Amino acid sequence: MQTTKPIIIAIDGYSSCGKSTLAKDLAAQLHFAYIDSGAMYRAVTLYFLRHNIALNDDEAIKTALHDIHITFKRNKLTRSSETYLNGENIEAEIRGMAVSNVVSEVSAIKAVRKSMVALQRKAGKHRGVVMDGRDIGTNVFADAELKIFLTAEPTTRAERRFLELQQKGDPETMQAVINNLAHRDHIDTTRTENPLRQAETARIIDNTLLTPQQQLELAYSWAVEVMVENTAINEN
Ligand code: C5P
Repeated sequence: MQTTKPIIIAIDGYSSCGKSTLAKDLAAQLHFAYIDSGAMYRAVTLYFLRHNIALNDDEAIKTALHDIHITFKRNKLTRSSETYLNGENIEAEIRGMAVSNVVSEVSAIKAVRKSMVALQRKAGKHRGVVMDGRDIGTNVFADAELKIFLTAEPTTRAERRFLELQQKGDPETMQAVINNLAHRDHIDTTRTENPLRQAETARIIDNTLLTPQQQLELAYSWAVEVMVENTAINEN
């Protein structure tokens, strides 16, 4: 029987485009690991907030990065992956606005990116991974076999994020959500260190009018196509 070789699927895009929904669904369907690179930057941000680390204090940042250990564990009840910071489950806390409001500033710091990119590369070294973020296809795994760039209309993105926060009981206003998305997109696209860019070979999905199932079907068909091609190339 012919077996396909595991590949890396990089999913990048602006904030709240549905990257993690697609990445999780795709990983489950392919039996690949799912890695949420944004959760790593959120975990670092939470640590910095808790320890009052000034974003211009290079020494404190270096020490903090040394003390930060991020892991993911699957929650058996919800069947989703949850983020742990030094052994503590911080999944709920890192999704709140306190972290969202400064995560892009923290992610723009060179030492932070260097440390997180090393972790991400380690997590994907055996391939068989779907990773979502901002610089996965352009930097972390520039050699990813499949690169997807997700987009959606800004109002659709804000509405989705607002609903998500409401469901979690977070009392943020729609305006605060709109402002936060615009703020993060601006910093993420204009920072010096690996800004958000569409990779040259990325395939684009605008999911404004797509259901999660429709975007999954499209991405899954691409993944199968790439894996079959990849296997054929390796056999020749
Ligand atoms: O994906 P998520 O919205 O949770 O990411 C939170 C923040 O982390 C982003 O706004 C961005 O500033 C940063 N990030 C990044 N590079 C990645 C993933 C996330 O800079 N690969």
